[in-house]
Amino acid sequence: MMHEQNKKIKLPGINNLSFDEPLIFELGSEGRIAVRLPDEQPVLSLPQHMVREEIVGFPQVGQSELVRHFTRLSQWNYAVDTGFYPLGSCTMKYNPKVNEDVARLSGFSYSHPYQPERLVQGSLRLLHELEQWLCSITGMKRATLQPAAGAHGELTAMMMIKAYFEDMEEKRTKVIIPDTAHGTNPASVSMCGFSVVPVKSGRFGLLEVEEVAKLMSEDVAAVMITNPNTLGIFECNVGEIAQAVHEKGGFVYCDGANLNALLGKVRYGDTGVDLVHMNLHKTFSTPHGGGGPGAGPLAVKDTLVPYLPVPLIDRHGESYRFNYDLPKSIGKVKSFFGNFLICVRAYAYILALGAKGLSQVSTNAVVNANYIKSALREHYHLPFDTPSLHECVFTDKKQQELGVSTLDIAKRLIDYGFHPPTVYFPLVVTGALMIEPTETESRETLDQFIEAMVRIAQEARENTGVLHDAPHRSKVTRVDEVTAARKPVLRWEKTLHP
Ligand SMILES: *Cc1c(COP(=O)(O)O)cnc(C)c1O
Repeated sequence: MMHEQNKKIKLPGINNLSFDEPLIFELGSEGRIAVRLPDEQPVLSLPQHMVREEIVGFPQVGQSELVRHFTRLSQWNYAVDTGFYPLGSCTMKYNPKVNEDVARLSGFSYSHPYQPERLVQGSLRLLHELEQWLCSITGMKRATLQPAAGAHGELTAMMMIKAYFEDMEEKRTKVIIPDTAHGTNPASVSMCGFSVVPVKSGRFGLLEVEEVAKLMSEDVAAVMITNPNTLGIFECNVGEIAQAVHEKGGFVYCDGANLNALLGKVRYGDTGVDLVHMNLHKTFSTPHGGGGPGAGPLAVKDTLVPYLPVPLIDRHGESYRFNYDLPKSIGKVKSFFGNFLICVRAYAYILALGAKGLSQVSTNAVVNANYIKSALREHYHLPFDTPSLHECVFTDKKQQELGVSTLDIAKRLIDYGFHPPTVYFPLVVTGALMIEPTETESRETLDQFIEAMVRIAQEARENTGVLHDAPHRSKVTRVDEVTAARKPVLRWEKTLHP
C-alpha cells in the first residue's frame, strides 16, 4: 500500500516537560549525602591508606537531588527508546530488552577473564557457538571475536593480509577502495602502511568489473568492498570482481557493516569474499551511539585462518579450550577476548530469532527502506535510481533551488519529533540524506516520518523562513556547528520560556 499525504496523520512532535538543569557541582550543600553507609567497618573495607578523607569540590547532594539530576539530563536525550532514529549506515534498530537481561546474568557479567578454562566453560561455549553461527551466516571458515568495533575489524583484516604476504615473501603495497566507502576503510588501510587506490563507482552507483580490473596488479594486496554499499545498493558484480582480484593473487575484503540487509539471503563467502567484518552492535542488537562499546568480529576463509588473532576457542568433545597454537597469528588485537557482553547480546539475539527470523529481519529492513524511498521520490531527488536494499539516499537538489539545504531539512525534522537521518554522507553524493529505517519500525512510524518529510518539502516551497533557523522547539536551537564543536558550552544557561 502506498503512503498518501494525509492531513490526519498525527506527528509525534515535541512539547515535553523538560527541565533546565545546572551542573551537579552547583547543586546541594555542605554535608548532604545520597547514601549513608553504616558507621561500623563495612564488610569489604578498604585499607586505610587508600581512603581519601576529603575530595575538594566533590558534589554533596541528597539522593533525590542526585536521581533527579541524572534523570533530567537523560530526558534531554533522543534515543531509540523514545523515537524513530533513521541514521543511515548506523542500523539503529530497537534492541530487545531480554538481551540486556541475559548480558546481566551474574555468571556472565561477574566472570573474570583470568578464570581458568574449566570454570568458564559456559562462556567459552557461547563464544565458540557465536563464532560458528557468524561463520555460517557469512559463509566463512573461522572468525575472531576480539575486534572492539567495525573499524577495528577492518584493521585486523589488513594486519592479517599484511602478515600473509610477508609470510609468502611477496611485497604488495596497495589496497583498492571505492569512492563510496566509509571513512574507516581508507583509515584502516593507511594505518597498516598500505596506500589507498580509489576506484570510482559507475553510473548506477555500482562498482564495475573493468574499473577494478584496470587497477588490479601484483602490487595490490586487496580490494575493500562494502556490500550492500553505502548507497544501500547491492554490489552485484562482486563475483566477477573477486575473480579478477584473485587472478592477480589479491584478497577481497568485505566491509559487512550493512549485513542487516543480507541475513539469510546472501553469504559473503559464496560471492568470492575472503574476509568480512560484521558489526554486532549494528546487525545483532547492541545499543550503540555515543561511542561504544561494540564488537566487530572478523570472519575469514581457510587460507587466512593461520593468521587469526589468538586465542581461538576450540571444542574438544564436550569441553572448550583456548587455542594459542597458531605460530603465524598476528597476536592479540584486544585485551582478553573482546567485548564479551556484546557477544552475549548477539548470541541471545541470534538464538531468539533463528535462521528464519534472521532472514525475516532482512526482508523487513529492505521493505521498510523501499516503502520510504517510493513515498519520498516525488518530493526529493534520488541520485541513483538503482534498486536498493536497506537504506535509501536522497539529496537536497530540488530544495537547493529554493535556497533550502540538507542541513535545514535535517534540523527541521527535530521539530517534528524525529532524529535526523545521516547527512552529507556518502561523500560522493552532494547534499546526501541517507535514511535507514531498520526492520523494527512499524508502518505507522514510517508514515509519520514520511509525512514530516513531505511537509518539509512543502515548507521549502512555501515557507522557507521556518527552515533556515530550525529547530525551533528543541532545548537547544540552531547552533553554529563549528563553534559548538570547538568551544562547547556545557553549562545550561538559557531558559527558553522564562
Ligand atoms: C559503521 C560502519 C563502519 C564502522 O564501524 P564502527 O563500529 O563504527 O567502527 C564501517 N563501515 C561501514 C559501512 C559502517 O556503516
